[in-house]
Amino acid sequence: MFSARLVNDPFGDPALYLDLRYRREALLFDLGDIRDLPPRMILKVNHIFVTHTHMDHFIGFDHLLRICLGREKHLALYGPPGFIDNVEGKLRAYTWNLVENYSNDFRLMVTELHPGRSETATFQCREAFRSVMDRQVAAFAGTILERDAYGVKAIVLDHKVPCLAFCLEEKRRVNVKKNALAEMGLPGGAWINALKDSIHRDEPDDKPFTAWWKGENRKTVEKIYPLGELKNKLTKITPGQKIVYISDVIHSPGNVERIVEFARGADVLFIEACFLEEDREKAAEKYHLTARQAGRLARLAAVKRFTLFHYSPKYRGMEERFEEEAMRAFEERG
Ligand SMILES: [Zn+2]
Ligand SMILES: [Zn+2]
Repeated sequence: MFSARLVNDPFGDPALYLDLRYRREALLFDLGDIRDLPPRMILKVNHIFVTHTHMDHFIGFDHLLRICLGREKHLALYGPPGFIDNVEGKLRAYTWNLVENYSNDFRLMVTELHPGRSETATFQCREAFRSVMDRQVAAFAGTILERDAYGVKAIVLDHKVPCLAFCLEEKRRVNVKKNALAEMGLPGGAWINALKDSIHRDEPDDKPFTAWWKGENRKTVEKIYPLGELKNKLTKITPGQKIVYISDVIHSPGNVERIVEFARGADVLFIEACFLEEDREKAAEKYHLTARQAGRLARLAAVKRFTLFHYSPKYRGMEERFEEEAMRAFEERG
């Protein structure tokens, strides 16, 4: 249901575009240079998650602001401690004396994530982007966003500054097969949603489930089946994807442990690799990973696939070495 693609080539600024197909909804992980995204794709985005505000991860904010200005749009942004001040600083850099009369309501809901709590400030265009309300404080235990079809989680990693990593998990989809309903002689109705809810709640297969509908003379008809039987005969269950995004971290024992736990079993891991292993010391000095370290993390987390990005420009023309080095570490044993 989600397609995920990096906005730029692996030497470009980090930004991952997650398109929720069939819905007018998209997410962005990181906000580097996004000028290569067509405005219609930018306007589809309603949640943006920023790992940290080093310039290469946040410079796209101005372009985003410019595209959204004058539109009816509520945009949520999430980032590490200090993020609200970072956004406010960007907004304060411009003069806003002509926006009060805009008919559209464009606003930014900016959330910074702290251990155990989140703080949200709202900036409204019509109020010249002044923060209009008190900051809203809420509990934060890892989940940033919970929607019907997916959830987004974050952890904090060490990049000499707190740096967030993100995980998007789609919920599994339960579809009911029409022909199977007909074969069992069961009419549709509200019970179908109740059946899906029971499956989503992981209720046991032997639990009795009542299907009901209005029969002749508007009398309610009920039929009871073990939940497992309806699940097997009527439904097609598609597991959701897990997509993990790690950018800008040092290879330290603490980071390794947290990344492996967070990315475990991911369908796709997007992971930075600024350096090659031959420059491992430089990578450590700059709080970044090497391709080999990234490949090893992908192996330890047992991900299905991984994609590298954020190569240092000094390696231009040497892209394949990153892939090779990481793949060798991914396939190593022990
Ligand atoms: Zn950085
Ligand atoms: Zn960076």
